[in-house]
Amino acid sequence: MATLEKILDPKLEAAKGYVDDVFNMVQLRNPNESEFHQAVKEVFDSLIPVLAKHPSYIEHGILERMVEPERVINFQVPWVDDQGKVHVNRGFRVQFNSAIGPYKGGLRFHPSVNASIVKFLGFEQIFKNSLTGQPIGGGKGGSDFDPKGKSDREVMRFTQSFMSELCKHIGPDIDVPAGDIGVGAREIGYMFGQYKKIRGHFEAGVLTGKGFSYGGSLGRKEATGYGTVYFVEEMLKDRGLSFKDKTVVVSGSGNVSIYAIEKATKLGAKVVACSDSSGYIYDTDGINLSTVKRLKEVENKRISEYVKEHPKTQFIEGCSAIWSIPCDIALPCATQNEIDDIAARTLISNGVIAVGEGANMPCTLEAIEIFLENDILFGPAKAVNAGGVAVSALEMAQNSMRLSWTFDEVDQELHQIMKDIYRNSMNAADEYDTPGNLVVGANIAGFKKVADAMISQGVI
Ligand code: NAP
Repeated sequence: MATLEKILDPKLEAAKGYVDDVFNMVQLRNPNESEFHQAVKEVFDSLIPVLAKHPSYIEHGILERMVEPERVINFQVPWVDDQGKVHVNRGFRVQFNSAIGPYKGGLRFHPSVNASIVKFLGFEQIFKNSLTGQPIGGGKGGSDFDPKGKSDREVMRFTQSFMSELCKHIGPDIDVPAGDIGVGAREIGYMFGQYKKIRGHFEAGVLTGKGFSYGGSLGRKEATGYGTVYFVEEMLKDRGLSFKDKTVVVSGSGNVSIYAIEKATKLGAKVVACSDSSGYIYDTDGINLSTVKRLKEVENKRISEYVKEHPKTQFIEGCSAIWSIPCDIALPCATQNEIDDIAARTLISNGVIAVGEGANMPCTLEAIEIFLENDILFGPAKAVNAGGVAVSALEMAQNSMRLSWTFDEVDQELHQIMKDIYRNSMNAADEYDTPGNLVVGANIAGFKKVADAMISQGVI
């Protein structure tokens, strides 16, 4: 982008002016939504050369229309805890863009959820879904409900109340939610049951991430983590490298992290650290994944419990210092803005080769800039973690056909989709004179398909 300033091209100047105007409007119209501003800025900075080459996108007001969600639904979620006390949480669903298909995107249950978080996630989802090559639009939702420390019955009552309102706004050809932080197979199961009861229909395609016995897809649970590693594998291959014998640090110990650790280990890497919101474990011999899986997927315990079973390992309180562990490959798979400029510089001084964003927006804009300036292989979230929604779309396809594919069929399809996303992003980066810059490439490749569909469908 720095070279742009040097080029006195009136089309580039016009495109830059347009981007600046729309971004200012986003900030004015959405005050106090810093995460949403950050996500928009990351995309907009990449699009200037595309807008200069195709001024019709400016004439059709594409950016103004893309940053304004088609529909925002806010609702109250009242529920009763095990002691009979009444609580009220906030529910959100942002139906961002349906140019290329029904809205599709996960639901996040976490106390930090607010309009800004849901909008940043929904905006990212538009481009991610487009990159998968599948016919899915962008949406996202969630609640500030905290599932931690709640009983199974409390989670069930909350999710039923949440779905009692959400069911009015979703459907297999309208909007298809899935999981995200705090929403896994259990929550999806309760929501599916409630949707079915209220609507009186067994519409399998209304939610993805379902259990296999009632319409889920084999391979969905693994998809985001495996897809993350498949994508990073492609980045490494282009430099003649692989996961074999590399040291890897993965943040988080949830759905994405666990299956990223599993696939990286299968490819010959040693994963030495992972975390939860309380701190991280550091195991120089390589993490024992079956212990992590049992603690997190079965027993619902804190990651600190790991050291009781593996006494030679360390538990360190707090999350940010995980990036001071020397590693070849860093996979942030927990949450937004976990790698800032300081963490980025520390990773580089410790010799990191590649960074792949398994989580959504885990690196700040400053951190991304530092990785790119230092020629670190950097895979942006909307490309790297697109495997989850890609397999969700495969789940929708199986539901429509009333078929179930084998794990290997789904995994092979996922692998190919991740290779295609990588290649399409690299090609777009080449076409717009930023070779190797996957941030620019993924944004452009995702954007053009949606923008062209919006133009074809008129101003609606
Ligand atoms: P998850 O199963 O709920 O796991 C989240 C993990 O991140 C947990 O270990 C959690 O620790 C940790 N975490 C959450 N908030 C944190 C915070 N503020 N600080 C430090 N650690 C935190 O969620 P997930 O599905 O793996 O999602 C992880 C990331 O991947 C999110 O950014 C999500 O949007 C993205 N993503 C997920 C999918 C998918 O298919 N699941 C697809 C695409 C992208 P605690 O348990 O202590 O909270």
